Amino acid sequence: MLRRYNTIKYNDVANAPGISVSIYLQGCPHHCKGCFNPETWDYNGGQELTEDLLENLFQNKINKNGIKRSLCILGGEPLCEENIATTYTLASMAKSYGVNVYIWTGYVFEELEKTDLLFEIFENTDYLIDGPFIEEEKDITLKMRGSRNQRVIDIKKYLKKEKNYVIIV
Ligand code: SF4
Repeated sequence: MLRRYNTIKYNDVANAPGISVSIYLQGCPHHCKGCFNPETWDYNGGQELTEDLLENLFQNKINKNGIKRSLCILGGEPLCEENIATTYTLASMAKSYGVNVYIWTGYVFEELEKTDLLFEIFENTDYLIDGPFIEEEKDITLKMRGSRNQRVIDIKKYLKKEKNYVIIV
């Protein structure tokens, strides 16, 4: 079942390399101090994500004007119990359209419960950016991250059991 989203940016250059469609899901359990997006915390906020909206996103927006965009799934928290099924749907649809997928989570990667559903999401994910935002470690020069504790995980390397799945960007 699809849940709720806060915002969709159709030509985002702030999150992943290149141009992306970025979708901010609604609801977050972490409540990090200094969060840049507290309006995403309330699970009942935002708007309903519909199948029509997703179809339009993938059929008409993601490759609009011949530009190959990535899909960024952010929050809120894409991997919390309430949002994980929606994240699965988004990542699966993105891969069926040949789109690169980036997911941001406030959970620390090693502490995520590695359920079958999470592995199914990983099958369709390229990069995962992990960890809560820690205000004391904020660094605006970092790529794809807000604070120094956060990391970029190369999910393909992780799935191939390569040890160097945390990458430098
Ligand atoms: S995980 Fe992200 S959205 Fe949630 S509180 Fe932390 S910074 Fe905000």
